[in-house]
Amino acid sequence: MADTFSYWEKTSFLSGFDVLIIGSGIVGLSAGMHLKKKRPELNIGILESGFIPAGASTKNAGFACFGSISELLEELKTGTENEVLSLIEMRWRGLEKLRKNLGDEALSFKNYGGFELFKETETEASEHCINNIPYFNQLLKNIIGKPDIYAVNNAKIAEFGLAGINNIICNKYEAQIDTGKMMRAMISKVQGLGVLILNNCRVNKLEQDTSGQILHTNQGIIRSNNVIVATNAYGKELIPELDIVPGRGQVLITEPVKDLKIMGTFHYNKGFTYFRNIDDRILLGGFRDLDFQTEETLKPGTTELIQNSLEELLHNTILPGRKIKIEQRWSGVMGFGKELKPIISGISPGLYCAVRCNGMGVAMGSLSGEQVADLVQL
Ligand SMILES: Cc1cc2nc3c(=O)[nH]c(=O)nc-3n(C[C@H](O)[C@H](O)[C@H](O)COP(=O)(O)OP(=O)(O)OC[C@H]3O[C@@H](n4cnc5c(N)ncnc54)[C@H](O)[C@@H]3O)c2cc1C
Repeated sequence: MADTFSYWEKTSFLSGFDVLIIGSGIVGLSAGMHLKKKRPELNIGILESGFIPAGASTKNAGFACFGSISELLEELKTGTENEVLSLIEMRWRGLEKLRKNLGDEALSFKNYGGFELFKETETEASEHCINNIPYFNQLLKNIIGKPDIYAVNNAKIAEFGLAGINNIICNKYEAQIDTGKMMRAMISKVQGLGVLILNNCRVNKLEQDTSGQILHTNQGIIRSNNVIVATNAYGKELIPELDIVPGRGQVLITEPVKDLKIMGTFHYNKGFTYFRNIDDRILLGGFRDLDFQTEETLKPGTTELIQNSLEELLHNTILPGRKIKIEQRWSGVMGFGKELKPIISGISPGLYCAVRCNGMGVAMGSLSGEQVADLVQL
């Protein structure tokens, strides 16, 4: 610990931790919330490298979703039916927890429904997905608790003013949230419970000795009995043996659009591309599949190839014939791996991790956080 700290700073802010969580994204905050509710007497801290949370949790699209048909079919190519089902369950239960923890108003939770789009040129893909609707409705019935999740509704094409689309599959149990409000509400809740969040505190290295965990940070050494690594895409930097591959997601947002007809969360091409309405604007992201290699990075940034593809979709399909300006562009990094399921496990005595949300952490993050918190031996 640097000598510039006072006795009071050292005793009240920087020592005596029962659990230190690294990363103040959805997963880290949910872990802190759950532990503190369960054991209010514990001294719990969260170390965050960003000035504000700087991971995917503040950069995502805010879809409260559990999978479009083409996305689920793609997942079934890598995982068994049971593995995919348990992922869907994690997403659904995670969303239920998120809503219970924070409330729909704080999240600005809006159940406008989800819509998967198929272009006129994609008849084979759309037929394949449409044929699979009964299968997925049956498969997901017990998780969602409803028999009628997916259905074709092509009347929506004209209602939304879309061009070049010949099929829409609706999911009436999908919703959207305001990501920024969610994170503010989560931080307030966690701090209200008495968890200390320290920002501008990057953990560079983890070690352990007989007295516990040693965290080498840019602010000096901080010790704790237990550590939870909740840094998602960045997990390998602290625990190199983890199977995590970064995947950058690029996003843009338009200026406000007069008479915007788009309302809901929209999916295109196996979930790789997505858009939604927010504050009379269109938020649009994706096309990582056009350039997997470049997007396999932890670095923030946007590329011409992907941004041009997003703009083309915006101008030709989503808002055809309208001259709408792009107001802002950004990126965030997700954590993927060979397996679809997140890594929620003990690494060594006193060291745990909950990482690799596979691009669905808004949905499953609250549950991942709780599950890792329950692993901690106190
Ligand atoms: C563009 C985009 C769109 C998305 N859209 C959706 C969506 O619509 N629905 C959905 O369910 N999911 C979506 N996701 C995925 C979702 O946002 C993530 O899965 C989720 O936010 C992961 O949460 P997390 O807490 O695990 O990680 P993060 O939010 O990434 O948090 C990790 C935190 O750890 C911090 N950190 C990293 N390294 C260190 C270190 N060494 N020391 C200290 N702190 C550190 C980071 O600054 C960060 O704040 C999207 C992601 C992106 C990028």
